[in-house]
Order: sequence, then C-alpha cells, then structure tokens
Amino acid sequence: MVNSDTSTVGIVGAGAMGRGIAQVAATGGCNVLLYDARSEATTEAINFIGGMLDRAVEKGRMTSENADAAKARLTGADDLAAFAETDVVIEAVSEDIELKAKVFSALEQATRPDCILASNTSSLSITRLAASCDHPERVAGFHFFNPVPLMPLVEVIAGIRTDQEVIDKLVALGEIMGRTPVRVADAPGFLVNQVGRGYTLEATNLVAEGVADFAAVDRIMRDAAGFRMGPFELLDLTALDVTHPATVEIYEQSYHEPRFRPAMLMGQRMQAGLLGRKTHQGHYTYLDGKQQKPEEPDAPAFEGGTFWVEPGEDCAALQEIVRASGAELDEGDRPGADSFILITPLGTDASTHAAQAGLDPERTVAVDPLFGFAGRRTAMKTIVTRPDVMRKTHAMLASDATPVTPIQDSPGFVAQRIVAMITAIGAGVAQNRIATPDDIDRAVKLGLNYP
Ligand code: NAD
Repeated sequence: MVNSDTSTVGIVGAGAMGRGIAQVAATGGCNVLLYDARSEATTEAINFIGGMLDRAVEKGRMTSENADAAKARLTGADDLAAFAETDVVIEAVSEDIELKAKVFSALEQATRPDCILASNTSSLSITRLAASCDHPERVAGFHFFNPVPLMPLVEVIAGIRTDQEVIDKLVALGEIMGRTPVRVADAPGFLVNQVGRGYTLEATNLVAEGVADFAAVDRIMRDAAGFRMGPFELLDLTALDVTHPATVEIYEQSYHEPRFRPAMLMGQRMQAGLLGRKTHQGHYTYLDGKQQKPEEPDAPAFEGGTFWVEPGEDCAALQEIVRASGAELDEGDRPGADSFILITPLGTDASTHAAQAGLDPERTVAVDPLFGFAGRRTAMKTIVTRPDVMRKTHAMLASDATPVTPIQDSPGFVAQRIVAMITAIGAGVAQNRIATPDDIDRAVKLGLNYP
C-alpha cells in the first residue's frame, strides 16, 4: 500500500540523486531508509539533507516542526537486510547495467515479494533491467531530475512486463513526494531525454552546415523562440561527455532512428576536451565560472532602399516594418526592377522558395515569420543574394533597434528547424504510444523548461 502514513521507502545509493529523492520522500511524509555501499556517503547525505531542510526553514519555505518531522523520518541503513519491510525501493546507484543488475538481485532477496523495485536510471532499458530479476512485473523506472527538490517532474516508466498496479502505485507515491508524475512506456531516453535530443542535435547540425555560428543560434533560440537557454549554453552546462554518449546510447537503442543520429561535430568537440563549463572551455570560454559572451556585431547603418514584400500571412507586418524604417515600400503586384524582395518561407530554403515563386534570388532575403518579428529577426540569404541587398535589408530590419541575425540559406531558418525537430520527436513519442500528448507537454515544460 502506498500512502504517506504507512509507506516505507528504501533508497539505494546516496549520491546526488539518491539524497534528493530521500529529501522529497521524507518531506512528503514517507519513512525513508537510505543505504550506500560507502557508509560515509550515507552519513554525508543525511547531514546534507538536514542542511537543506534547515535552509528551507530559514527561507520561510517550511516550518521547523515539518523539517524536524522530515529529519526524524530519515534513517541510514547499514545493509540491505534493513529493507525487509519496505514498500518501495528506489535504486540510484551509478549508471552501470552490471552494477544495477547486482543491486536488483540483492534487493529481490532482501525485500518482501510485494515490494516495488524502481530504478532512477536515465538511460538504461527498464525492460532489460527487469529481465535480470525473478519477478520482472514488480520492476519499473522512477526517473527524477537533478536537482530533485527543485525539479517537479518524475517519469514513471513501465517495462514490457511491469504490472499496471505497480505503475499506479508509483504515480501515487510521486504525488506524495510533491512531484508531477507522467506515465511513460519504456523507450530509449524515455520521454524527456528523447525529446531533449532535438534541441541540441539540430542546433549542432545547423552550425556544422555553416548556417550560423554557436552564439547566433543561441541568440535566435532565446530572443526569437523564447527558450530560457540557447542550445549551446545548455550543452556547456550539461557537458558534452554526458550529452554526446547519451545521444549515442539513444541512437543505438532505437536501432538507428535517423532523428537521433549523433552529430559528428559534437563527438569531435567532446574528443577535443571542449566539454563546457567544467573544463572552462566549451562552445564559450568561462573565466572564473563566468561565460564570456562574444560581442554581437553592430547592424549596418541604414541606407534606405525600396522593398517589396511577398503577399501572404506575414506581409502586412513586414510592410509595416519597412514603412516605419523610412525605407520605400513597393506596393506593386510584382517587385519593381530595382526593389529588394522580402519573403517569409515556412520549411523551405530561401533559394528554392524564390525559384518556385519566380522571384530574382539575387535581390531576395527571407525573414523568419514563425515566432513573429518582435524579439529578434532572422534574415536568411539565398545562395546568390547580393551583399549590398543583404546589408541594406539587415539595416532596414534593425532600424527600430530590434536585433537581427543574418544567416546562410537553410530549409527552415534556425528556429523553425530546431522547433520542427523537437516537435517531430514529440509526435513520435505520442505515435509510438510512449506517452500521451498531455503528458508529453507537461513533461517537456517541467523537465526541459521549454516555452
Ligand atoms: P552519484 O555517483 O552521485 O551516486 C551514486 C552513489 O551510488 C554513490 O554514492 C555510490 O557510492 C553509490 N553506490 C555505488 N554502488 C553501490 C552499491 N552497489 N550499493 C549501494 N550504493 C552504491 O550518481 P547520481 O548522479 O546520483 O546518479 C545515480 C543514478 O541516477 C544513475 O543511474 C543516473 O543515471 C541517474 N540520474 C542521474 C541524474 C543526474 O543529473 N545526476 C539525473 C537523473 C538520473
């Protein structure tokens, strides 16, 4: 039975994740037994959690009575024999399938037959882990995010042979622990880590193709698309020696699903030791832990010009920008002989779009309409746009002080491509019945902080 008054939760592994899970379980009202192969690790974790609860009291987020009660519910265990009466055990040892299989085998001996055995693994198959157990139906994934007390999401993962009742009980336990649980079927990267591939992989591919540089992609994704962090800032934070191997693992486990194909550039940069913040050099340089932002080049000075905007949904808004800049607006049905041409393609590159519309590609510049023109404007050349056309268009678009990022031709600019990749992977998760559309939205907002 899982309820906060009676549940006893065992946790194996008192590292970064185990201690966070122990904290939210104890705060939620569960009795918690914490075990680590290194007994000092258990003591350190219990002291650490005590410190976190004291801080919560100081900051007024918790009463001292509740903090004391949570501390009293937390006990260190000397060995797994102490887990004989636990209702649920959450395994959070290092990410190694052989090690986890050994721990699960020991847990099968140490616990009651109706005790649920859950793993916090980020990347290993729950089905495979369960297959090494005598009773795979009581094995599930219970995937928390780091740092646990601040990350409200938990993925509850059913392996092929997991009992539905086990999943229901873990969902209830997740709620007791103050988390938002989502139900996920076992799949490479589960839900969040699968969808998260899209952001960093497509961004790296864009740079490898020469469409834009790291800083330009980050600026577009933050200012135009509204993401909290650019993909390369994020990669520097998580570190390439974590993200790249995880991507390779998801690609292998999915039998080479093309959407998860690892980016060669990411692998090379990892091999070069450009791991991110922790090595002080990633896609950015870090001095005393502070990111050194490359300066954004100034927009060219306004030179006027006559601009014609291709008819369509975003025509009026772009025409308004042209008028407001003081440049001349060509209102003809087709562009005049000397007019510069503005197009707003969705999903196609500027060169193809201009060719299909019978527009002079040397005078054409595409502007990304997908997220509107307010935060940042992306100006994309065709393969033959004249430099003076690109310069004057950039200046006109920047005349109201909205930043503009010029890029090379690419089907879907930068933001369209990256968001389309994330969406395609999310749709695949739904289509493959890994999670429901509602849970996908919830998980991506809470687990990845996407807008
Ligand atoms: P960690 O290295 O901080 O902690 C692992 C702990 O397990 C250590 O204290 C170690 O002494 C202990 N341990 C090793 N073998 C043991 C055994 N046989 N019995 C008992 N304890 C043992 O690792 P972590 O970052 O807390 O990760 C733990 C698990 O959580 C991994 O499966 C990882 O993939 C997953 N995870 C990690 C994160 C993250 O961001 N760190 C996020 C989600 C999930």
